[in-house]
Amino acid sequence: MSTSTHGIRPVSPPPLGSPQNPEIGAIDQLRALLVYPEFPKTFWSYEKILELVGRKVLLPPLGLITVAAILPQDWEFRLVDVNIRPVSAAEWQWADLVILSAMIVQKENCIHHIGLAHTHGKPVAVGGPYPSSTPEELASAGADFLILDEGEITLPQFVEAWTNGATSGRFSAHGEKPDVTSTPIPRFDLLERSAYDSMSVQFSRGCPFQCEFCDIIVLYGRKPRTKTPQQLIAELQALHDLGWRGGVFMVDDNFIGNKRNVKLFLHQLEIWQRDHRYPFRFDTEASLDLAEDQELIDLMLACNFAAVFMGIETPDEASLQLTKKFQNNRSPLLESIDRVTRSGLRVIAGFIIGFDGEQAGAGGRIVAFAEAAAIPTTTFAMLQALPHTALWHRLEQEGRLMAKDGNINQTTLMNFIPTRPVEAIAHEYVEAFQALYEPQRYLDRVYRYFLRLGAPRVKTAPSWPEWVVVRALAIVCWRQGIQRSTRWSFWHHLIHVLVANPGVAEQYLAVCAHNEHFLEYRDIVRDQIEAQLASHRHALTQEKAAINSVPVPNIPAITRG
Ligand code: SF4
Repeated sequence: MSTSTHGIRPVSPPPLGSPQNPEIGAIDQLRALLVYPEFPKTFWSYEKILELVGRKVLLPPLGLITVAAILPQDWEFRLVDVNIRPVSAAEWQWADLVILSAMIVQKENCIHHIGLAHTHGKPVAVGGPYPSSTPEELASAGADFLILDEGEITLPQFVEAWTNGATSGRFSAHGEKPDVTSTPIPRFDLLERSAYDSMSVQFSRGCPFQCEFCDIIVLYGRKPRTKTPQQLIAELQALHDLGWRGGVFMVDDNFIGNKRNVKLFLHQLEIWQRDHRYPFRFDTEASLDLAEDQELIDLMLACNFAAVFMGIETPDEASLQLTKKFQNNRSPLLESIDRVTRSGLRVIAGFIIGFDGEQAGAGGRIVAFAEAAAIPTTTFAMLQALPHTALWHRLEQEGRLMAKDGNINQTTLMNFIPTRPVEAIAHEYVEAFQALYEPQRYLDRVYRYFLRLGAPRVKTAPSWPEWVVVRALAIVCWRQGIQRSTRWSFWHHLIHVLVANPGVAEQYLAVCAHNEHFLEYRDIVRDQIEAQLASHRHALTQEKAAINSVPVPNIPAITRG
């Protein structure tokens, strides 16, 4: 899978906390306010689509609800996801301690909430991928406690310090990676579940591959650590008991990192799903070598997996080689995607532009590839060097790193000096984004893809669609089938999909609906990139002017003796 979206894809950060640890003593009635900062508007925020189905956010903060499960259960917890609503005055007042968890894209809002907590006189603890990557930033922002790395190791240290009256501290795992088999069931009960489109669970951490730009292997290592099948099934049972039905995202950065263990789990999951009449539909992220393992694909389909995010990154083999994404060069990319698709798993592809040595036209080649594979949904970003990745270290050595934080987002320029002009990369990027989500092109691609997509393997229990879903579909049919110039294609394609592959009709309409988001988002990308390019040009002009205004010293004529 990819880091092309690390930081923007819908993955909750791994838990800060630790298992219910005997070392963690009870502290009566401490009131911990868990706050999840706001994401900027990104590819993954999907506001327009969520609005259609009456939801506010795609996924819940899995890290924070795991923290709540592993801290002393005598503590009282409240959770506010700022993506749903702001923290109220009463909640600030209620708290004894504020705990924030954030990914890099949430940094601005995370820092903002540290300030807010202090305004209310509350101590703040921070953790998650962003503080673990750049703790100094959070220390400068005033965080009282830095709970870095994986909390199975560092959270007990924090609780001990807190119990002993510490008012600040920094807790680090010093490279140690914890076993996740004793991580408790996340506190799903703390979530405002009706605000989310899907729930999320995590089976493994870490990935065996070595993509140069990837921060996952820096944070969680190259040896995937998995939960036990019983452990994850207990989490799903907890969600089921709370009445959740529908989408569940396996947030693993590479679900198939440990193929042996994932197969053992899927065998158990298949039985559980069948016994419960398939209450959940799963999506996940996986590396492209999934295509080489038909048994694994079949098992996923038998468990009702519907979509899988895969980091294609680029069709340019030289770039894949250079960025050490060797697994994508093992078999022809188009064949791999086709195999997964025809089996019945919908592929969401991640692309990146701006690799070293990249030849002009990379944006066009990505569009051509997406068209050939007919993949409807793609994430797309300019390459960023995330802190402490192999890429970040290499660029630092080469003196090419400009900003040391890195912020993977579709609307940011690169944070290093690329090997071809950044303007050329940015223009290709904007043009490719516009082309990928041009309404007619998108609709045609979705249509071609769903004709290829294998039919679902499981029969879920029949149920009446919710009113909100019926309303959403009616709105999509009204906008795309009546109001827009694509109306004839819309009805033509819909009827053909209904005849050729009726089992995927609902998914098909949902993916058509996604363009409601992309239509707006592609313009946001264009406007923000162009604004950044303008300030980049302005800075260059000023630099040149400053150089030209420096008086040239009189150089005395060189005379030979
Ligand atoms: S190292 Fe693994 S998680 Fe990271 S981009 Fe590569 S395949 Fe994805």
